[in-house]
Amino acid sequence: MIKYILKCGKEHEFESWFLNSKEFERLKNKKLIECIYCKSKKIQKTIMSPRILKSKLRYSKKDLINKKEIVKVKNDLLKIRKFIEKNFEYVGDQLAEKVKDIYYNDKKNFNIYGTTTLEEREELREEGIELSSIPWVDKEN
Ligand SMILES: [Zn+2]
Repeated sequence: MIKYILKCGKEHEFESWFLNSKEFERLKNKKLIECIYCKSKKIQKTIMSPRILKSKLRYSKKDLINKKEIVKVKNDLLKIRKFIEKNFEYVGDQLAEKVKDIYYNDKKNFNIYGTTTLEEREELREEGIELSSIPWVDKEN
């Protein structure tokens, strides 16, 4: 797949994915591509995106992650976990509530951690509160 930034005669720009460059030419010649804003069929491509998705590349990359690297990442995550357990107050599933309390009452102690549901996270985000989340690894295994 290849991504093109397309432009119509009225300078509207939009992105579109094509199988390959030939496919783009074919659709263009058949006037099957139109501007998503004004439906103009006077389309030309601007800059070709260098991001070409090659699924094969993705898979081989995944295979390259060896066990050693996984262990290293896991150790790093364990270090983060230990740091948080030592320096942060655990509030369990009360996290969303506590965070709001801190946020709206301007409390200084922001070192808390716990769990939230996806809905709670979404709700907090709507109120302008962003949470950081880290993968929580088990100490065992
Ligand atoms: Zn247009």
